Amino acid sequence: MNRSIRYILLLLIAVKASNAAETAQEPRDILRDRANAAILNAAIGDALGRITEFVDTTKKICAQLGDSGVTSLAQATIYHHGKTIAPYTDDTVMARIVLDIALQGRTAHASIQTMTNNLAHAFARLFGPERYSIDPLFELRAHGLRNTGSAEALNALIAQKKDLQNDWWLSRKGINPAAEGGCGSVMRAWPIGLVFTGDDQLIIDFAAAQSAITHAHPLAMAASAAMALGTAYAYQGKSVDEIMQAMIRAAEQFDAQELRYKTDARKRPADAQLTAAMIARNQLLTSDMIRYAYQAAQEGKLPEEVLGTDNIQQPNYRSPNGFLLGWAADEAVAGAVYLLARNRDNVRQAIVEGVNSPGDSDSLASLAGALVGAHTGNVYPDDALDRLENIDALKLYADQIVNNTLPTTIRRKLLINQHDDRRAMIKRSTVGQRRIR
Ligand SMILES: [Mg+2]
Repeated sequence: MNRSIRYILLLLIAVKASNAAETAQEPRDILRDRANAAILNAAIGDALGRITEFVDTTKKICAQLGDSGVTSLAQATIYHHGKTIAPYTDDTVMARIVLDIALQGRTAHASIQTMTNNLAHAFARLFGPERYSIDPLFELRAHGLRNTGSAEALNALIAQKKDLQNDWWLSRKGINPAAEGGCGSVMRAWPIGLVFTGDDQLIIDFAAAQSAITHAHPLAMAASAAMALGTAYAYQGKSVDEIMQAMIRAAEQFDAQELRYKTDARKRPADAQLTAAMIARNQLLTSDMIRYAYQAAQEGKLPEEVLGTDNIQQPNYRSPNGFLLGWAADEAVAGAVYLLARNRDNVRQAIVEGVNSPGDSDSLASLAGALVGAHTGNVYPDDALDRLENIDALKLYADQIVNNTLPTTIRRKLLINQHDDRRAMIKRSTVGQRRIR
């Protein structure tokens, strides 16, 4: 090729590339804001809810903390190593582990199985002998019994060197799906939606797989998948209705498995009127609980009707009034959906209503925070924001989430490879895989 023609061609390519970079600049900033707001709001809701998590009626919350309850990180501080901080809880500790491993996995083009294996080891370490060097505030986190018990069982497998086998985390001692439907895996699932945005099935499969490490009930997998996909859709700037429909679709992939455990439930038609009494009787699948929460928000039902006024539970663990207390994974994701659909762009109110609810306040507020943050790009307004534990470290994630995003064509190719990888894995270990999916 003639030298001057080649020079002109190179110049044209350079101009085109710089134009593309310019037009891409603005959406990148929006995405960065959304990722940042999702992460910070999840941690803020968690830190605020730490104060109310074990106050079991809305009356007591008002009596102890004032008529507005907890609204500022200034009300949620402790003195630690010479600093006044508002610490978050187990929800954010575990969500950060998922976020770190998902980011590493994306950079390394790792398969779902590799990332799940890394997560199982990371959860085991968090509860192992090095717990205080990994998390100096470990004692303060109020880790749930299920995460604690499952992690201990994982450590026992590691001690026996059984962690080299395929899907080893599914052979942990005492695994009992029927008893593993708490919200301890859904609360850490949302980062998957930010990191793998654009590949819905990858998000659903990975969110479910990470749940099964500690929570093998299909409702926990359904709730985790819905939460991760909802966060991805919010992050992409989809409407509230599109986010809701995506979350319902994600949970529906687990309907058939859930029916085996929720023996009083049946799938409801899409236009059925769903009621709190159905929740009290454990008659709704996770996908329908999300639909119930969306309906309740559209009908203008108030938080005291939906999230409740007291923390009373029946022997089936449901509130006798069908309140979404949030201790169970399906209630937690439905409660977060209600707060997003009810408050939409009002980040402050969405989080405050979750924080000052009678049930698992920190998890509800954290999940609602992730969704409204990803949806609006706005961080919770609080003069005491700089008190949030590790806020500087939390702020570093948004750039990693946005910058690591590869061009769609390359990413598509890599993800197809991952799917092939997964198919090979399914062939190798059909039993284990059946238990995951
Ligand atoms: Mg917590």
